[in-house]
Amino acid sequence: MSASRRLDLGGTTLTLISGGINHIDGGGMLGIVPKTLWEQWYPADHENRITLDTHCALVESKGGTILIETGCGNKLTPLERRFYGGSESDWLLPNFLAAGLDPRMVERVVVTHLHTDHVGGLLMNDPDGRVVPTFPNADFVVGAQEFEDAEAGRGITPNAYVPLNYRALVEERRLDPAPPDTEIIPGVRFLATPGHTFGHQSVLIEGTSRAAVFTGDVLALYRHAPTHYTMAYDVEPLRKGETKRALLERAAREEWLLILSHEPRFPICRAIYQERRNRYDLEEYASE
Ligand SMILES: [Zn+2]
Repeated sequence: MSASRRLDLGGTTLTLISGGINHIDGGGMLGIVPKTLWEQWYPADHENRITLDTHCALVESKGGTILIETGCGNKLTPLERRFYGGSESDWLLPNFLAAGLDPRMVERVVVTHLHTDHVGGLLMNDPDGRVVPTFPNADFVVGAQEFEDAEAGRGITPNAYVPLNYRALVEERRLDPAPPDTEIIPGVRFLATPGHTFGHQSVLIEGTSRAAVFTGDVLALYRHAPTHYTMAYDVEPLRKGETKRALLERAAREEWLLILSHEPRFPICRAIYQERRNRYDLEEYASE
């Protein structure tokens, strides 16, 4: 588990909480990038797995209290545990409590897309083995297209979407599929960022002094900034490159902070234009 971190955006605070450390296949995460390059930044274990985080963000403002992303949760099967790694005690709820936060305070949970490492902590196994909402007072917001694609199984692998992760909330009518760019609460809205999945949406959080984007998997790692650095799981790699370039361009222009979904060391960054190479790179945002 990594320690929680807090950003003051002006009238809005954002607290970064780990949804659990994972160990995921490095080739899957870095797509076509040769291992000789990526292993310098993300050392692989004997099964070729690299260490990643699953960042979640609690946003508190006058407009409401929402949580972005939920990590893998505690419902992984033994096989999924082999793919995702991590430990059974390191997931969102224990980390949320360790940060001194109360799960009942969350009014809405928002996810960028419905892959298990983002939505697995929405529902949890309770001590009696029942599947119950982790955040008992929250409704749940996801992009409408993403929800449709998950229901239709339009993922790159047959198990890309696991209905157990959200089905109980659909039945309770607590799931709210939202069109692209929907305002979730005042000052927080979806930003359509297709490519990792067709309906992937990042989340823009605007305070009175600055803004931050929770990127989701359009920009998961510090070293993912070049347009062709994609993941093997992206449904549309070329489109993702275009989406990412546009997001970085806008982030540099508007001085947005970028919160990278899986980056273990530098989760909060700024986009910097490199004129010589005509590309955007990331720079760690170290402190207030
Ligand atoms: Zn992910």
